[in-house]
Amino acid sequence: MKKIAIFGSTGSIGKSSLNVIRENKDLFEVVTLVAGKNIKKLMEQIEEFKPKNVYIIDKENADILKNHFKDLNVYYGEYGMEEISNKTDFDISISALVGIAGLKPTYNMIKNGKTVALANKEVLVAGGELIMKTAKENGAKLLTIDSEHSAIMQCLNGEDSNRIDKILLTASGGPFFDKEINDDITVEDALNHPTWSMGKKITIDSSTMMNKGFEVIEAKWLFDVNPEQIEVVVHRQSLVHSMVQFEDGTIMANIGPKSMQIPISYALNYPNRLSNNIEKLDLFKIGDLKFEKPDFKKFKCLNLAYKSIKMGHCYQVILNASNEVLVESFLNKQIKYTEIPNGIEKVMNMFEYIELNSIEEILEFDKVVKEKTKKLIKK
Ligand code: NDP
Repeated sequence: MKKIAIFGSTGSIGKSSLNVIRENKDLFEVVTLVAGKNIKKLMEQIEEFKPKNVYIIDKENADILKNHFKDLNVYYGEYGMEEISNKTDFDISISALVGIAGLKPTYNMIKNGKTVALANKEVLVAGGELIMKTAKENGAKLLTIDSEHSAIMQCLNGEDSNRIDKILLTASGGPFFDKEINDDITVEDALNHPTWSMGKKITIDSSTMMNKGFEVIEAKWLFDVNPEQIEVVVHRQSLVHSMVQFEDGTIMANIGPKSMQIPISYALNYPNRLSNNIEKLDLFKIGDLKFEKPDFKKFKCLNLAYKSIKMGHCYQVILNASNEVLVESFLNKQIKYTEIPNGIEKVMNMFEYIELNSIEEILEFDKVVKEKTKKLIKK
């Protein structure tokens, strides 16, 4: 039995991961569940999966859990997150917190030489170099459950990565690919993703195509390629999950149903596949596959992501931190939709380049950028 830790168990990826575990109880055992605020969902998950360790942000909620589940190790707060992410009693962890909150816990698990299946792409956006270096130094295995990157990982199976010509990173294009982007866009419009059902932040990031920008940075780190070798290909159907073009012109594509359970189960049972009850694709019903170019002027966030790679590491931290604040403000109806890309650009222009050499320095800088972004919103 593989012992599993899930960081972000009450979220979209967390729940899909628990579906995979529920369907494969003979293979997987949950030892750790980490949630933010949703105590109701977490309690249901504890009842069903009987973990040894759990985390919830607030002390009041932690006290409720301690009273309710006598044998459970309950952690809370900043210190509790340090403790639970430094435990080593699991075989593989799913890193599915959202935003920068996942950086330190993921770093801790990697520093301890553990296997991590990464969904939380912001970890690599803000700390890619340090995370990859730490994984190498400590023999930690970093797998991916982002569907595009899982697809690329599968296309590269048994291949010489020096023979990659380019990575063709597919994108759904989000809800506004065929529509005008303006300030009439409401939160509800932006949350209406055409093909995937996901947490709120990534859904907004998909609508601005910042999500794809983050994925470009993620691919650069995971597959050790130059940004010029990563081409974003809009594929509205979300059936081709990404492709790799090799030096001889061959393109390997990963095609399959739209379900996060597939990349999740691939990572959990890596390198072997698991069967599931998801409806298989019928290529005759699909008929055609269509690919289009993204509009970098319209989707300014995608452009800013490529720009941040050229400008250097701290600009990727700025990209991520300012985006986090602006997306939250948009979700709280404090700013207009177009203020997300415009705000990020303004904040990127406010900073001179600085070196960030440790997780602590990155987290400190993240806070500074967030403060600046909040001040900009108040103006
Ligand atoms: P959700 O918002 O649905 O879930 C986030 C999870 O993290 C929740 O369990 C939440 O707890 C928990 N959480 C958030 N902040 C904290 C914190 N400070 N401390 C402890 N727990 C916290 O997000 P998704 O599942 O959609 O996405 C997770 C990550 O995976 C993101 O980085 C996203 O980009 C990436 N990803 C998601 C995909 C998807 O299909 N959803 C696909 C590919 C990548 P609670 O709800 O209890 O507050």
